[in-house]
Amino acid sequence: TPLPIGCNVTISAPSMQAIMLDMIALHHNDSLEGKRILDVGSGTGIICAYMGHCVGPNGLVVVIDHVKQLTDMSIQNLENGNAETKEMLTSGRVELITGDGRKGHAAKAPYDAIHVGAGAPVVPADLTDQLAPGGCLLIPVDTEAGGYQELLLISKGSKATGDEGKMSEKKVCDCRFVPLTDLKKQL
Ligand code: SAH
Repeated sequence: TPLPIGCNVTISAPSMQAIMLDMIALHHNDSLEGKRILDVGSGTGIICAYMGHCVGPNGLVVVIDHVKQLTDMSIQNLENGNAETKEMLTSGRVELITGDGRKGHAAKAPYDAIHVGAGAPVVPADLTDQLAPGGCLLIPVDTEAGGYQELLLISKGSKATGDEGKMSEKKVCDCRFVPLTDLKKQL
């Protein structure tokens, strides 16, 4: 189950973490080697550690949280992890930033995958803009029933699939995340 980690948020349930990683990996034919990924809402940093492992030494994971305390906790967790998670920091394979994740991080765009670990009222346009052709955005989007979301997998077409730039979307499952919101509202 999700567990409180402070700052009014939770770490996702391991089953949900697995669904998120699976959906992103399957979108890329089960290999994330060398890919560039943006993770919005680092929380504990657990998802970015998994992603750092999956992309390997030639990939990049940019992680944003709007709470500096949580960015610091994520860095601390990677430092306290193992040789690989430590190396993710020293090599810069995983880059942790404090800021508003709804704007993405244009400086390192485009991304092959963007993962949002918080429930959004709408799909932020900056995130779809920062997707590479063939990339996917996995995001929980609020439904009419307050407090719940549907997990959407939004894909950007590519030359290879003959639909370059065309956006498509499918629903993965119902879910419940803490809100993707303003810093003041959260705290
Ligand atoms: N994947 C993380 C999930 C943490 S919960 C984990 O399993 O540990 C969601 C996170 O999103 C919280 O850390 C919260 O601070 C962050 N968040 C919420 N709104 C945000 C915003 N606008 N910009 C950046 N981060 C945000």
